[in-house]
Amino acid sequence: MQAHMMQQPLLVSSLLRHAERHHGDQQVVSRGVDGGLHRYSFRDLARRARQLAAALGALGLERGDRVGTLAWNGHRHLELYYAVSGAGAVLHTLNPRLHADQLAWIAEHADDRALFFDPTFLPLVEALAPRLPGVRHFVLMGDRAQLPADCAIGGLLCYEDLIAAHDDTYAWPLLDENAASSLCYTSGTTGDPKGVLFSHRSTLLHTFASALPDTLNVSAADCVLPVVPMFHVNAWGLPYAACMVGAKLVLPGPQLDGASLYALFESEGVTLSAGVPTVWQGLLAHVRGQGLRFTSMRRTIVGGAACPPRMLAEFEDELDVRVLHAWGMTELSPIGTVSAPRRNGEPAAHRRAQQAKQGRCPFGVDMRVVDAAGAELPWDGRSAGELQVRGHWVVQSYFGGASPLADGWFPTGDVAHIDAEACMQITDRAKDVIKSGGEWIGSIEIENIAMAHPAVAMAACIAARHPKWDERPLLIVVRKPGAELTRAELLQFFAGRIAKWWTPDDVIFTESIPLGATGKMLKHLLRAQYQDHLLCPAN
Ligand code: ADP
Repeated sequence: MQAHMMQQPLLVSSLLRHAERHHGDQQVVSRGVDGGLHRYSFRDLARRARQLAAALGALGLERGDRVGTLAWNGHRHLELYYAVSGAGAVLHTLNPRLHADQLAWIAEHADDRALFFDPTFLPLVEALAPRLPGVRHFVLMGDRAQLPADCAIGGLLCYEDLIAAHDDTYAWPLLDENAASSLCYTSGTTGDPKGVLFSHRSTLLHTFASALPDTLNVSAADCVLPVVPMFHVNAWGLPYAACMVGAKLVLPGPQLDGASLYALFESEGVTLSAGVPTVWQGLLAHVRGQGLRFTSMRRTIVGGAACPPRMLAEFEDELDVRVLHAWGMTELSPIGTVSAPRRNGEPAAHRRAQQAKQGRCPFGVDMRVVDAAGAELPWDGRSAGELQVRGHWVVQSYFGGASPLADGWFPTGDVAHIDAEACMQITDRAKDVIKSGGEWIGSIEIENIAMAHPAVAMAACIAARHPKWDERPLLIVVRKPGAELTRAELLQFFAGRIAKWWTPDDVIFTESIPLGATGKMLKHLLRAQYQDHLLCPAN
């Protein structure tokens, strides 16, 4: 028997319609590339998104066409999020920190038909344009005054002119909720990047789940500042969640240094933020160095890479900011798990230990760990194997590529265990695992211990080749400015904190550790540089 309930497709445009009607005067504040603040309401956002959608149609862009963006977190990027998907085209956020060759490859693979870009990226786009024959329209995201007098891109369009040419009577089309809404590529540290094509439905279900109290816990009372870029898996869904719940949204533009972020947090009354650990390191160093406090910020989401326990303690114990440690992937839209406290009255030490793990699944995703033969392992907090997931917002197959699924589950390439409280902990990425004498050593745990040393700014643990054990852990360390620390002192720090055979064989001090386009440590480059370090008799 069929139910008698309305059938309304889950569409990205419905988020904006809701924000306009029910939270119309809520604010969106964004910092431009010139440093100035732009301020308007959800009502204004909705009006301009409709004008932009009309402009996309006038440019000849059709349903399903991919529209690329190279842009920071700003109000025009937000308008594109809603206008492109709402009109039935596919928003393709490109990561401007990638190499030009990779960008050209990705834009071609995606078959982008238009490219919208912030003025900062004009030189990059001028260099790319000849390599993008499929792109018919290049649009500078600014007003006429920002258009260059002389430019290598023929027929360069101006965003504000496009908007001004249309009124706001555009009506959002009724689309199939399973139609594609946006496209994001994995950063491709191993092999070519892979495109993940999100649907309206998967995006909406992800947004519902992301706002839940034990997920990202976003409400109308919040002022949300995603430091995580809108080109890094849709800023973890926060631009959608803000419209769903009516939260104030603050978009920080390109200035992501500690001082600029802190000033914006304070001036706008930010209550909730989100970013990768390396971004928080910069912010925490600034706050620590200047003896500052956060007056409004109460929660932050740390994800994209493991949150070191020292960072967790600093946020919570010294700054009174609750940390939501989240694990996710592009293939998961991105949220997979979040560590939220399970019940009131948990002993503090237990709560902290659980929080340092990657957490539990919200409704909508399920997970398991399997051994090499694909058999599910028990949830005992010890049995580590490959983490697999499935759910409403998990990839089925890559754009223009094969399905990665195994037995209906998506193999994440992460190694993890799950405890009796259903709390998952990542011990490594499969490709970063250190295999010593046939046994796995978890590099994340070693890095977390090194990071707990007061003289360490950043630490990466990699597998180095070893004549007897095949591989042994090697620690690459950046000291804090002015700090003194020797190899022996650091190795001594591991005593009693870790099984003796997990202690790294050697420490290499360096000036910096290479970071990828999403702010994560590029361990494969370190491996290429140092993997023979232990084979060398001089060491
Ligand atoms: P890329 O694979 O290019 O880095 P993603 O942003 O999709 O792109 O990265 C997903 C990966 O990031 C995960 O598979 C996992 O290895 C790592 N990751 C994300 N969040 C965490 C976390 N909280 N702890 C440990 N690793 C994490």
